[in-house]
Amino acid sequence: MSTIFKKIIDKEIPADIVYEDEHCLAFKDIDPKAPVHILIIPKKEIPSVAEVAESDKELLGHLLVKASQIAKDLGVSESGYRLVANTNKEGGQEVPYLHIHLLGGRQMTWPPG
Ligand code: 5GP
Repeated sequence: MSTIFKKIIDKEIPADIVYEDEHCLAFKDIDPKAPVHILIIPKKEIPSVAEVAESDKELLGHLLVKASQIAKDLGVSESGYRLVANTNKEGGQEVPYLHIHLLGGRQMTWPPG
């Protein structure tokens, strides 16, 4: 599997990176749907939430902890934000590499379309 996100991790294509550590990478979405729109991805290649394993527990927790930290760093923690993990076709997933959208800076609506 070599998706666009794997190429971003490998620095083969550029991205506006807001956070990186040995386990994950967070960068601005190229087509933002909100004033703040960050994608948080594990460095381990996992196609979607549908394919996580028990052994991914710590990594998945790490992604959420970092999402919380990034929201604080970008100034949307108090106002609020939404985390989304589109999963497979009916979930609206386009890039087959597990990612969490962090959306903020405007009022979110519910239910999603
Ligand atoms: P999905 O629909 O799979 O949940 O979301 C994929 C997201 O990746 C979309 O919001 C899309 O704008 C973003 N995206 C796709 N290609 C690129 C890219 O090359 N760079 C960046 N930064 N974002 C991308």
